[in-house]
Amino acid sequence: ETHLDVAALRAAFPVLDQRVHDKPLVYLDNAATTQKPAAVIDAVANYYRHDNANVHRGVHVLSQRATEAYEGAREAVAGFINAEREYQIVFTRGTTEAINLVAQSYARPRLQPGDEILITEIEHHSNIVPWQLVCEATGATLRVARVNDAAEIDRDDFAAKLGERTRLVAIGHVSNAFGTIHPVNELIALAHRHNIPVLVDGAQATAHMPVDVRALNADFYVFSGHKLFGPTGIGVLYGRESLLEAMPPYQGGGDMIETVTLEGSTWNELPAKFEAGTPNIAGAIGLGAAIRFLADFDLDAIAAHEEQLRARVTAELAQIDGLRLIGTAGHKAAILSFVMGEAHPQDIATILDSAGVAIRAGHHCAMPGMARFGLEGTARASFAAYNDESDVDALLAGLRSAQRIFA
Ligand code: PMP
Repeated sequence: ETHLDVAALRAAFPVLDQRVHDKPLVYLDNAATTQKPAAVIDAVANYYRHDNANVHRGVHVLSQRATEAYEGAREAVAGFINAEREYQIVFTRGTTEAINLVAQSYARPRLQPGDEILITEIEHHSNIVPWQLVCEATGATLRVARVNDAAEIDRDDFAAKLGERTRLVAIGHVSNAFGTIHPVNELIALAHRHNIPVLVDGAQATAHMPVDVRALNADFYVFSGHKLFGPTGIGVLYGRESLLEAMPPYQGGGDMIETVTLEGSTWNELPAKFEAGTPNIAGAIGLGAAIRFLADFDLDAIAAHEEQLRARVTAELAQIDGLRLIGTAGHKAAILSFVMGEAHPQDIATILDSAGVAIRAGHHCAMPGMARFGLEGTARASFAAYNDESDVDALLAGLRSAQRIFA
């Protein structure tokens, strides 16, 4: 097992080196967004400082540099998730836009009244609402696989709901609300036995474990740059070539066309077909830089490190009176969702904030998932590669003082 140099990794993130409320910052809101290493901040700044130009059509030097950097980022992303071809990487605004793209361009033209889309009940709203919209527009039905009390997918229920009319399965890789790592390999294999394509929402996976879209055999895999130490406003849709080829454009505009006449237009090739307008060039370059930064570290070692933190926090939380962990899956990421007696999650987060510890409170954009556990919200501490034992100490100390306050 490769060792992770957490101190070196942490030192690369300037924002972590500060005090809030006169306490050292302890950042445990990584499921909402991750911090950015200097390499990413510099890549974005350097692009604007030296190379800023529009991509693809310019003959001048700056446009060529911008294009090279933008397409270089695509190459980095393709390598990072082991895509077959670079053109299967479509840059989007984020996970949300990538899912909406698939909903509108893949699902919508194919759905007939009575057809079905299958999700789970602990999806992020961005993997629920786009399907509701497309079902409403087509008369299709959104079906929902249940989870057990540990927030693990009920495989029998999932299998039972995969049917003749299922046209697409959309599942999270890792639940942002409860940390569950779904057995996506197995679920994809099961769906494929019925010839049903699967979209995997990888927003919470890519920064925390190696992801190989070919090994998964995913038909679509989507994620956000900002949860992977990259900028906001940039994300990725990976798609199987045959599916992307068969899909109509999502938006019309510059760059996505081959020819335009006032009578009609023809479409550019992949991936340009899905990238209408001037893209988020700096964002893509920043994402590329984040991936190159991560290449210096071993993702298996990052996963092992986060697992060690998760195991310790889980054991210690069990010692805090009145604290109840929600989501106790056997296979889960370092995302810990909990409630404490009658205390409002917002109040727990406020007490922790005064101790310098940043966590999140609320429904985490997973209201149906919260409802499954009879809750409106939880407090959630979520870890990333740069978190260490001192962060765990600060979280636990903060929670113990919160517990004393509420007792
Ligand atoms: N899916 C999951 C599992 C997420 O955690 C998030 C972000 N919280 C999203 C989708 C949406 O990502 P974004 O807001 O970056 O589009």
